[in-house]
Amino acid sequence: MNTMNNLNREPADAGSSCRLCPRKCGADRTRQSGRCRSGVWPRVARAALHMWEEPCISGKEGSGAIFFSGCPLGCVYCQNRQIALGNRGEEVTCDELAGMMLNLQGQGANNINLVTAGHFLPAVIRSLQMAKERGLSIPVVYNSGGYELPEALEGLRGLVRVFLPDFKYLSPELAALFSAAPDYPAAAEAALQKMVELAGPPSFDARGIIQSGVIVRHLVLPGHTKEAKEVIRFLHETWGDRIFISILHQYTPMPGIEKDFPELGRRVTEREYEKVVDYALSIGVTNGFIQSGKTAKESFIPEFDGTGVG
Ligand code: SF4
Repeated sequence: MNTMNNLNREPADAGSSCRLCPRKCGADRTRQSGRCRSGVWPRVARAALHMWEEPCISGKEGSGAIFFSGCPLGCVYCQNRQIALGNRGEEVTCDELAGMMLNLQGQGANNINLVTAGHFLPAVIRSLQMAKERGLSIPVVYNSGGYELPEALEGLRGLVRVFLPDFKYLSPELAALFSAAPDYPAAAEAALQKMVELAGPPSFDARGIIQSGVIVRHLVLPGHTKEAKEVIRFLHETWGDRIFISILHQYTPMPGIEKDFPELGRRVTEREYEKVVDYALSIGVTNGFIQSGKTAKESFIPEFDGTGVG
């Protein structure tokens, strides 16, 4: 972790050996990109009101989403490949990043939604501090692939009360195959435990917009309903009602993926998704969100009450 330099710019990691995420790849980000394909400075691909998160995040007004370029995971089926490759968007200073947050608040955003920011955490933390000093008062949502280090997340204490991590795999073999990260399940468990601690109990305002808490997302992959069920069982048995579980039906095959991963070359069927949702209901999950089949690419149905199932 670093301090501000005299250009009022906050590098992602001033050290010559970056160990910000579980990759701990040791890149000197002042000279080369690490596994996250990111240099020293935060690179932002988009900052705009976003309507397609869970309803308690987007609400009617929208979530103030800031999309960062690059990603430490690099999943083969990445749904945001253009951004994840790290070459989209512009490098920004902490002052500029704080300004974007305040601008989104001025547009009426229900929250600031930091999408895949973990590889820029020191700069993001500094930017949040600056924005709060300048009047940022809406909740901050930390939207993450779940592959994070608890000691890095600690820097968000008091700044972020809403976490929106993925939990992609429980199987190290699948995590190795699709994300070259056999340590993903262990890393995601440790990160989620830290997020639950930092967020505290779930809470909502009078409009139903989340103010604190953790919503864990699982993207159901075609042909992998067994894995989806095991992830949901693990989440429910470990954290129960301390978290919400959001089961995503929006998997979209990227062009050409079927060449190397034939099972990923199609969408998830209604039957597959229903099997996963039915399972979640059968084990007693009540804090959650599902996506309806017809609107799986666009919207969520609130509350895990059977709506849209069957
Ligand atoms: S944040 Fe990037 S450079 Fe740093 S350890 Fe992770 S992948 Fe490597």
